[in-house]
Amino acid sequence: MKRYIKHIIIHSTATFDPKVSQHYGCFHYVVERTGEIKKIHPENSVIKHLPSVDAEAIHVAYAGGRNKAGALGDTRTPVQEEALFNKIVALSVKYPGAKICGHNELDATANCPGFSVKDWIRNYEPDLLLSA
Ligand SMILES: [Zn+2]
Repeated sequence: MKRYIKHIIIHSTATFDPKVSQHYGCFHYVVERTGEIKKIHPENSVIKHLPSVDAEAIHVAYAGGRNKAGALGDTRTPVQEEALFNKIVALSVKYPGAKICGHNELDATANCPGFSVKDWIRNYEPDLLLSA
């Protein structure tokens, strides 16, 4: 059964060590530091993350979000940022009724994904490679 998607929610995995992957289970997609996009769960499955919206949400995370000192923040690499952007664009084409938002916009106590998704989407300029 196809779900109606109202929210595309951006997260970080809140991990520092790239080898730590135990938190990947809470997301549909995880974007690695290399820009590789890992599909963790099919889009049709409901992932438990934010009970009030999970039934109509796709959860996308970038791997990282925690610095060496253990503090939460934006740790995206340039290729990771671009891959995350492209994935969000692809999802919003597929689910045109969906709102793109950060976890922190739905839960003010969460310091996730560590940056303002609104400001980022508004200002990000992807490095488009146009073939001749
Ligand atoms: Zn989150």
